[in-house]
Amino acid sequence: MPSGGKTRTATCSCRGVRLALAGEPRRVYACSCTECQRCTGSAFAYRAIFADAAILGLEGTTRSWRRTGSSGRWLEQTFCPTCGTVVFMRAEALNDALSISVGCLEAPDFPAPQLLHWSDRKHRWLCLEGVAEQ
Ligand SMILES: [Zn+2]
Ligand SMILES: [Zn+2]
Repeated sequence: MPSGGKTRTATCSCRGVRLALAGEPRRVYACSCTECQRCTGSAFAYRAIFADAAILGLEGTTRSWRRTGSSGRWLEQTFCPTCGTVVFMRAEALNDALSISVGCLEAPDFPAPQLLHWSDRKHRWLCLEGVAEQ
């Protein structure tokens, strides 16, 4: 278990799924690709990469579905089968880490994204102050 730092818990809308995490994220990002827009029902996804070693526990029933990304590698969204909230995502490219839906942490002090991926797909009005676009 990582020492020091914060403990945070990601929960779904119905609170049936609880994922407890220790320490700080490796990376925080936003993504405005069309799949993230569909997945979130919003203009962009706001996610944080945590190492698998940061996971303190996962409670509740989850379901996952896997799709092939534009890179040809798989991406797997894990969601609550009751309320449908996507709590985290795994990806072939991430191997020893997972990507948490930051909104599930209910943490207004959480670090801002460093990068917006797929900015060419973003909604025209979207401007994230101080966030680099890719
Ligand atoms: Zn739920
Ligand atoms: Zn995306």
